Amino acid sequence: MARRKKIYEGKAKILYEGPEPGTLVQYFKDDATAYNAEKHAVIDGKGVLNNRLSEFFMTGLNAIGVPTHFIRRLNMREQLVRQVEIIPLEVVVRNFAAGSLSKRLGLEEGTQLPRPIVEFYYKDDRLGDPLVAEEHIIAFGWASQQDLDDMVALALRVNDFLSGVMLAVGIRLVDFKIEIGRLWEGDFQRLVVADEISPDSCRLWDIETGRHLDKDVFRRDLGDLADAYSEVARRLGVLPTNVTHSGKPRLIN
Ligand code: 5GP
Repeated sequence: MARRKKIYEGKAKILYEGPEPGTLVQYFKDDATAYNAEKHAVIDGKGVLNNRLSEFFMTGLNAIGVPTHFIRRLNMREQLVRQVEIIPLEVVVRNFAAGSLSKRLGLEEGTQLPRPIVEFYYKDDRLGDPLVAEEHIIAFGWASQQDLDDMVALALRVNDFLSGVMLAVGIRLVDFKIEIGRLWEGDFQRLVVADEISPDSCRLWDIETGRHLDKDVFRRDLGDLADAYSEVARRLGVLPTNVTHSGKPRLIN
């Protein structure tokens, strides 16, 4: 294959120039990082699983009219996506207390929140992605008030969809992070879900046992990360049910 132009390399993914203008190829690496890349490992098969799981969630969102950047999966590690202008904010939705919210407010992990809470974090590795208020976002011009309203609505629709899909397979969606991009169509812009949706960016707990099936397994040394992600994929029907702990992930189609 001819050499492709690399547009951007992040901690878990690489973006290459796509085959047509306005498209990119998103490549999923096996690298896992945590605590602003202080902790790093290569986890065999993680990229394959996240590519397939992100495809599953994005396809479902597109099907119910929640716009995303996803076009189609190309192969085991790559998907074709629309090129968007990423808004420099991580949008986090929380249904149960965990992680930084539990620390910040002294809430026991697993406490159900009175309603889903949407938070914004400014994407800046040097600052460790700080929590920001709408005031900061508007004052510094990262997004307009209209964008913010649209982002909250989009994030809550993603939350309803993901919560339902996960509940159906016995998994609690504790919280998740998405990134949102601007898709320009002539002079008009539309906000779409971008980046990825995978166990790297969600907290997923088995409803019966409380087992963690997400990146906290890596962050907190709770066991085998690929095994946890395979379990999510298996329950969602993305992997055949006979994939074993030692086996490499095998795609159904
Ligand atoms: P917390 O703020 O509790 O650390 O994270 C809340 C949720 O957002 C978790 O599901 C976590 O996985 C996700 N999240 C927050 N920041 C990042 C990030 O920089 N990268 C990824 N992959 N997920 C994040």
